[in-house]
Amino acid sequence: MAWQRIRKRPEDCIGANLQDYEGYAGTFAWSQARAMLDGLPGGALNIAHEAVDRHVDAGRGDRLALRWIGRDGQASDFTYAALRAQSNRFASLLAQLGVGKGDRVFSLLGRVPELYFAALGTLKNGSVFSPLFSAFGPEPIKARMTIGEAKALVTTEAFYRRKVEPWRKELASLQQVFLTDCSKTPPAGTTDLAAAMAASPDAFAIVPTAPGDMALLHFTSGTTGRPKGAVHVHEAVVAHHITGRLALDLHPEDVFWCTADPGWVTGTSYGIISPLTNGATLIVDQAEFDAERWYRILQDQKVTVWYTAPTAIRMLMKIGADTTRRFDLSKLRFMASVGEPLNPEAVVWGMEAFGKPFHDNWWQTETGGIMIANYPAMDVKPGSMGRPLPGVTAAVLEHTADGGIREIERPMAMGELALRPGWPSMMRAYLNEEERYRKCFAGGWYLTGDLAMRDDEGYYWFVGRADDVIKSAGHLIGPFEVESALMEHPAVAEAGVIGVPDPTAGEIVKAFVALKNGVEPTEALRKELLGHARKRLGPAVAPKDIAFRANLPKTRSGKIMRRLLKARELGLPEGDVSTLESEER
Ligand code: ATP
Ligand code: MG
Repeated sequence: MAWQRIRKRPEDCIGANLQDYEGYAGTFAWSQARAMLDGLPGGALNIAHEAVDRHVDAGRGDRLALRWIGRDGQASDFTYAALRAQSNRFASLLAQLGVGKGDRVFSLLGRVPELYFAALGTLKNGSVFSPLFSAFGPEPIKARMTIGEAKALVTTEAFYRRKVEPWRKELASLQQVFLTDCSKTPPAGTTDLAAAMAASPDAFAIVPTAPGDMALLHFTSGTTGRPKGAVHVHEAVVAHHITGRLALDLHPEDVFWCTADPGWVTGTSYGIISPLTNGATLIVDQAEFDAERWYRILQDQKVTVWYTAPTAIRMLMKIGADTTRRFDLSKLRFMASVGEPLNPEAVVWGMEAFGKPFHDNWWQTETGGIMIANYPAMDVKPGSMGRPLPGVTAAVLEHTADGGIREIERPMAMGELALRPGWPSMMRAYLNEEERYRKCFAGGWYLTGDLAMRDDEGYYWFVGRADDVIKSAGHLIGPFEVESALMEHPAVAEAGVIGVPDPTAGEIVKAFVALKNGVEPTEALRKELLGHARKRLGPAVAPKDIAFRANLPKTRSGKIMRRLLKARELGLPEGDVSTLESEER
């Protein structure tokens, strides 16, 4: 099926920050983006100053910065002034206790207000913030805090007792543990955060960090293997800010909801920093995904810009557009998605259910911010990730026989997606893994490890991760294309596609399919899906085999772990599963 281009009408783009992609990208320089921020005296630059304090200094302190919705539905509001005071208290506390510039402060928290105070306070103190998923078990926590040489940790008493205390003595660097919900008898060696913050001054002189000073340590999702600790610097805020402006179209009046957890880079770059630097109101929901709850939040909070992920969109699709239409979502004006390929089916479903498309965008932990995107004032081609951000040079590369690398100019030729280094939020290291970092660069390019194609209008199309691509009878097959074709069938909720070794073809395509609610996994349906795929993709690309699964294995950030499907299929070791979400759902 050829997907119809979604044309933007003039009324779709009224007031959009980016009106003329070509014109703006043609003359853009990063210095322009830097000039939208304040900086600190002497050339210093601090993410938290740009996110919070500069708004207060400019008289916008009483604007709502953060609306936190507790699991029970109760909301707590924090203005920019309140956020300044709370982050100052946390920064003061760190400074008093000897946690200094460059020291790593980890968080192991659900989405609670203290997480936001700690993130911003850590940055103000010149320390490095490293958020962990609260659902991690003791081992992944220990591994990451050891790599990061954690000096401080903010967590809950229950998490501490269960996940940290058993091994704490093995991590000599860890000096301070703050508990957000201390009981009367807190464990030895911990500090009651609420009491300590209450006793700390709410004024703090932000440490004048240099643009190149380390600010954030983010671990990758571990989709393809052992997670890497990507190092980001304060200068990254220049990219956080402008990408929020251009790719998410953030304005100060916006109510913005990023559904990602800050344990993943999206939840920090766009769940904390970017909306705040843009002066918007941030919605944070403590609870996990629940379709009704999410629609209610969109409606009741009058969310205007929503940034979510394909997995969530597919779950909403599973329930159906009738549910969407029960809610008044008239304030919602822009919807974006990241983290995984967004099936064209999902983009088109957005039109049906919300009356507007989802705008896919692409980036990685390593890039620190959005690199390729669909913009409000640019037509959407369902299935395409869009075009590079102004200031970002992307290319599709092929590896030559002599070990070199060369740009492919031909439209729709498949190759490795690469970016020209130099954007402000580019990672500066994989912590303590110099060799792994060095391997990401060749011929003046940063190699993303993803395969993509570029069409004759400069739109990029995701093919798959280099590791996931299937080589079958001389064809290179991207799992995304096969998964998207399966998704078009009304019975299919989700699909994961892998290559299985085959003596004649090299590999054959096998699909794992989760069905929509109420659909029975029968042999007849299996045959029907095989036929549907063959008709859509042709026999060379269509799966030879389909297996039904109640759920597909995913990372905690919602990415299908194809390597795990493969390992299980072949009876191979599962490898690093520290980021695997429980599969019971
Ligand atoms: P690891 O590197 O540890 O295997 P990961 O690559 O999943 O994990 P992240 O940095 O969180 O960790 O994810 C970035 C990757 O997610 C991208 O390289 C790409 O493969 C995928 N991705 C992100 N956005 C999109 C998108 N819009 N379309 C397709 N793929 C995407
Ligand atoms: Mg990766």
